Amino acid sequence: MRAIFIAVGSELLEKDRLDTNSLYVARKLREKGILMDLKMTVGDDLDNLTWVIKNAYKRAQLVIITGGLGPTEDDLTREGTANALKKELVFQEEIVEQIRSVFEKRGIQMPDINARQAFIIKGAEVLPNSVGTAPGQYIEDKSCNVLLLPGPPREMQPMFDDIFIRKIAPLSNFHIHTRCLKFSGITESETDSRISDLYSKYNNPRTTILASPGIIEVHLLGRSKKSPEENKKTTDSLAEKIKERLAEYFITEKDISFEQYILEELRSNHLTLSTAESCTGGGLGNRITNIPGSSDVFLGGVIAYSNELKMKILGVSKGILEKYGAVSKQTAQQMAQGIREKSHSDIGVAITGIAGPTGATKGKPVGLVCLHLSSLKTEQGSQKIFSGDRQVIKTRSENFCLNLIRKYLKQRKN
Ligand code: AMP
Ligand code: MG
Repeated sequence: MRAIFIAVGSELLEKDRLDTNSLYVARKLREKGILMDLKMTVGDDLDNLTWVIKNAYKRAQLVIITGGLGPTEDDLTREGTANALKKELVFQEEIVEQIRSVFEKRGIQMPDINARQAFIIKGAEVLPNSVGTAPGQYIEDKSCNVLLLPGPPREMQPMFDDIFIRKIAPLSNFHIHTRCLKFSGITESETDSRISDLYSKYNNPRTTILASPGIIEVHLLGRSKKSPEENKKTTDSLAEKIKERLAEYFITEKDISFEQYILEELRSNHLTLSTAESCTGGGLGNRITNIPGSSDVFLGGVIAYSNELKMKILGVSKGILEKYGAVSKQTAQQMAQGIREKSHSDIGVAITGIAGPTGATKGKPVGLVCLHLSSLKTEQGSQKIFSGDRQVIKTRSENFCLNLIRKYLKQRKN
């Protein structure tokens, strides 16, 4: 089935609003084996809307449109759809009454313009809005079904969920099986060159490699009309081969963040953690403390930005700072040891680096980051030169630090 998504709203063509509805819809469709073929964004312009909807309708079996169902002059999705499908708009008095009662519940009188929301494409199923005023509409037609949904995500989502389960999911004749493998400590191109000989043999499943700073995800999507067992077997077999090939970088397949994975691993190993951060400004501690219940593992952290604090709080020696500098393996080591000893944690980690864009010195470029993990049994330091802007370098540093912990825990097991 070919599905096309259309986001309607002039604000989505401007500089500061993003269409997120398509992401929500794509994820739900995907779970049932329906792939979004094409998505488009159109401003509040009747000609453009009519043209886009007409062409989508000719091309697809399912067209999902969000936005432009409000009460104002610029909300034109109803008119555009009626034009494109050559169908009439019918005014439904009982819908006006429903909208009026939504306003009355809020203690206000319905403005007259809201009556526009009671125009329904002839033959459409009216989808009640449990959150706002604009009803949705679902038009079932011979070759293509068209779904109109309100723009605000909190109104769109429950309405989509309902019609999706009742009418759209049953249209899919595909069985789907997905795997999502997460890796760290390897680049996107290295990942591809290490596994392309494996996945390029397959048309199904479809393999996608997605990179974010410090984390690589390999997504496998198996779809089959006839044989769900065979589909699962092929997809799983490729997933296992990829995992084996990249075993040393593998994090998890769970749908959780890297920090949550590390937290759970530390917890199951009965280990506690503390952090000493310089260039990441507490970013790692922030990510860990965003996870509810992290306090049994994470004892705390220090943001030691200045040399004075590195000395006073973490016990980094003046001699080390003078000889090697604040961004050095030696300083990172003393920071990690310092926080571990001060907090009595099992593991102390430290990050010190130059996040840029200024601050580079001779022999120490922007992006140079020194990291260290200190435990009772081992000392492990590492140094990297990360690329990217300030934020990207900080995120890469945090993920690299989490990866140091992951590798430490793995060694400990072996
Ligand atoms: P509308 O149904 O056009 O009146 O949409 C009202 C509001 O919903 C807009 O101002 C946006 O904030 C939000 N919105 C509309 N379309 C989208 C979209 N595709 N993704 C996320 N938010 C949206
Ligand atoms: Mg709008």
